[in-house]
Parts: sequence; structure tokens; C-alpha cells
Amino acid sequence: MALIISCFTSMASSILYNRWISLEKSSQELVKRNEELDTKDKSLTDKIDNLNKKDEDLKLKENELNDKESKLNQKEDELIERENKLKIKEEELERKLSEISCGNGSKIIYLTFDDGPSENTSEVLDILAKNNIKATFFVNGHPEYENTYLRIVNEGHKIGNHTYSHDYSQIYTCVNSFNNDIVALNNYLESIGVGAPNIIRFPGGSNNTVSNQYGGANIMAVLTGEAVSNGYGYIDWNVSSGDADKVTNDKDTIVKNVLEGCKNKDKAVVLFHDSKPKTTTVEALPEIIKELKREGYVFGTIDKETSTLFRFM
Ligand code: ZN
Repeated sequence: MALIISCFTSMASSILYNRWISLEKSSQELVKRNEELDTKDKSLTDKIDNLNKKDEDLKLKENELNDKESKLNQKEDELIERENKLKIKEEELERKLSEISCGNGSKIIYLTFDDGPSENTSEVLDILAKNNIKATFFVNGHPEYENTYLRIVNEGHKIGNHTYSHDYSQIYTCVNSFNNDIVALNNYLESIGVGAPNIIRFPGGSNNTVSNQYGGANIMAVLTGEAVSNGYGYIDWNVSSGDADKVTNDKDTIVKNVLEGCKNKDKAVVLFHDSKPKTTTVEALPEIIKELKREGYVFGTIDKETSTLFRFM
């Protein structure tokens, strides 16, 4: 019996021991697992901290960039304002220079170009820019050269109205036809951002007689009076380059016509054409400008006041 009890006790003890060992092992594993989780938690916390720091850095950089952008915009505005002020000053100086030149009785030339724009007009503008002088363009309606109209005014030249169609049989029939053609060109110029001109040059000049066959003998007297009462100035010329005598006249003839025409004149309004066939006008221009400058002429533009200088009628 004692042996049985002893045996039983020994067995129970062995089971308990094994159970204890097993629990001890589980406990150690749990501790280890816990440590591992702690480590992972710490690592994740570190990562989150890092990301937060990076986020803050990016926000700081974004703010810096926004600041820089707004400073740049401010500077750009300031530069545009200064540019505009300089432009106004430049225009004032040019006007004063022109006034002084006229007041001193010095010699002044008004270069005028009719019937454009065409591709020749761009070359004329290049030559004028190179010589730092201004001119007046009496234009017709050529919408395919929209950029050229804009270039003319943007580069400081003047634009005058030479009717939209330049078609004698249309414009010289009666007052209404003429006015409609003038208004058509004004509307077109306004639609592309070029203001409506207040100066006119009549196709063929204010005393042309071709108009008589369409509107009668008195038509030009009526139209010139009408133009003035509608608030326009109009001007003819006192020197012709002769570039309309032929479809394309000889370059040397054009040079000679202008230089001889200007001789002994203190004020000269020179008639050129910058329509498509007038390539020799472009070729003649540098020589003409060079010689006129050498003779001491300054170059002016036509406005409503100066438009009274030369009128045939
Ligand atoms: Zn013309």
C-alpha cells in the first residue's frame, strides 16, 4: 500500500513538474514576444516621428517657396510699372524734341507710307527701327497683316485712315459710301486693339479728279469738308517718291525723286507706298534716310495738328 502511495505521489509530482516546466517555457516565450513587440513598436514610433519631421520640413520649404514666389510677383509688377513710366517719359521727350525742332525752324521730314500693310511694311519697320526714326502709315484693310498693324503702333509710329477698300468706284460715289469705308477701317482697327485714327489721307489725294467720274465734279470738296466736320484731320504731301508711277519703279529714281523734292524745303511730307509690289521703295529707303539725316533733317509723324501742313484742297 505504502508502495502504491509512494508510486502515485511520484507520478503526481512528475506531472506537476512537467506542467511547471511547460508554463515556465510559455512564460519565457511571452516575455520574449513582448520584448519583440516593444522593439517593433519603438521602431514604428521612430518612423512616424521621422515622417512627421519630414512633413514639417516640407511645409517650411513650401512656405519659403510661396514667399519667394510672391516677392517675384511683386518685383515683376514693379518692373512693369517702371517700364510704363519710362515709356511715357520717352514719348514726352520725343514730343519735346519734335517741338524744339519745329520751334527752332530746323528742318523736318514726315515719311508717309500708303496702301499697306504688306510684307514690305515689316522691312520698312526694320529700317525705321535701325535708324531710330518714326513715320506715318496710311493703311487700308488687309486683315491678313493683323500683326503688322500692331507692330506699327507698338513701335511708336502713327496710323492714318486711307479707307478700307481703296476702291475709287466705291468710296467716291457719294458721302455715305466714303464714310462707310472710313468707318469700316476704324472698326477693324479697333477690333484688333489699334485705336481708330483721327487723320485721313484720301486715296489719290484730296484733289484727285478720278473721283469725278463716280461722284461728280464737286465730290472732293464735299468729302474734305465732311471729313473736317466729322472731326478728322487730312493731309496730302509736298514730295512724291514716284514709287506709284510704275508698278515697281527703279530704286535710284525713287532716291533721286525724294532727295531732289526735299531740296530747299524745311518741311517735307514725303509720299511712299508700302503695298506688295513696292520692293524698290524698301531698297531706296536706307539711302534716302542716310542723306536726309546728313542734311540735318529730323523725322516727325503726322497727327491731327500737323495734318494741316499740306493740303491740295
Ligand atoms: Zn493709296
